[in-house]
Amino acid sequence: MAEKIKLSVDGILALESSFIKVPYEQLKKANRKAQKFTEKELSNLASGVADLAKGKGSGAKDPVKALDAMIERMNKLKRKLDELKAEETMYAGKLAARLSHLQDLAHIRTLTAPEFAAWAHLRLQRVLLDYLMRQGFLTSAKLLATGSSSHSASDASGSVMNLAAASAAAEPMAVDTDPTPAPASQVPAPHPVAGLVQFADLEFFTHQRRIERALERHSCTEALAWCHDNKVALKKLKSHLEFNLRLQEFIELARTRQLVPALEYAKTHLVAFADLGHTRAIQQAMALMAFPPTTTCEPYRTLYDSDRRWTALAAQFRADNFALHCLPPLSALEATLQAGLAALKTAQCGGKHEDRSINCPVCVPDTFAVLAEKLPLGHHVNSCYVCRISGEIMDEDNPPLVTPEGYVYSRKAVHEMAAKNNGFFRCPRTHSIFKVAQMKKMFLT
Ligand SMILES: [Zn+2]
Repeated sequence: MAEKIKLSVDGILALESSFIKVPYEQLKKANRKAQKFTEKELSNLASGVADLAKGKGSGAKDPVKALDAMIERMNKLKRKLDELKAEETMYAGKLAARLSHLQDLAHIRTLTAPEFAAWAHLRLQRVLLDYLMRQGFLTSAKLLATGSSSHSASDASGSVMNLAAASAAAEPMAVDTDPTPAPASQVPAPHPVAGLVQFADLEFFTHQRRIERALERHSCTEALAWCHDNKVALKKLKSHLEFNLRLQEFIELARTRQLVPALEYAKTHLVAFADLGHTRAIQQAMALMAFPPTTTCEPYRTLYDSDRRWTALAAQFRADNFALHCLPPLSALEATLQAGLAALKTAQCGGKHEDRSINCPVCVPDTFAVLAEKLPLGHHVNSCYVCRISGEIMDEDNPPLVTPEGYVYSRKAVHEMAAKNNGFFRCPRTHSIFKVAQMKKMFLT
């Protein structure tokens, strides 16, 4: 019977904060937007009514027309509030579904319970979903999120593989190039009540991708609008993104030698940042008025380095957007994988070919070994002996045998090889051949 290992809920939840934080922050933002909009509109209406009552203002000449305009404005407010309410309801639904998914853990006692296998399977799906979205594979993410919802639990594992294959076929090359919705025939529309859809932050990543794409096209407009929407939060973060975007727009004017508009732009948008510790950067940028884009003089040549600067802006926007929504820079898939690899990694891992264990994932060259290269070693209180041939642990039931040349293999592997070779054992390291009787039993201490 399988050993019952107690479930460490705290350990599992340690990686889940961003899973809850993203819809929570979006709900907060939508709520703030609705509140601000209502306050602004109601205050305008109140002052309009007050002016009308006193016979003042633009509506005094034709009060009926002014009242009609107010009614139209109130209808507009109602429509806008309906839209915002639908947005809030969607985020609240996501939050509730995610909390309920995590709450399910409270009823699972052991790691071997079948309920945990089902829960962990769903977790794997959403971790993959998160990874796809972060990498910009939004079409694949939509396929995974919407496709899996139509499968029953019994064929769930097959559905992940099928969808992964479908995603790979749909997107074999690179990141989605167009974040706008694909035709309905290609991508099923997300269903508001479907399971995995509630775990996908598609709106968040679609919006992020749209701004990244604009930056790749050398346009700051979308990113500046985002900075305006998140002004207060970015100030708290001490973000320099807005300044760098403004600086880039100035550099682009200098690049095309539109010197008068560049000067005007600097006066309007850059001077305000001088008090925020950007004086030197502004002075350097202003010197671009004298240096053409063909200059070899530093630092002006670097300031004109278009590719490097636009890539850095996209990376900075991504980092700030993640920070604003409490998203860690590393995806859950990478974080879990690295935690697992670090726990398994030993001083022997990734060494010479003959030292590698055939059952150790960290020893697999080109894949996990590369990922684990910079990771620390796990703290192993007790060491164990692993057979070089079979990868099995050597213990009293399968003791180690030593060849006359001093190399150690498990009894089981030695006997299996000898049975196939007329009682002879061939050392995989030295290629010497021995009789099993020549090998000595080693005692573990
Ligand atoms: Zn290893």
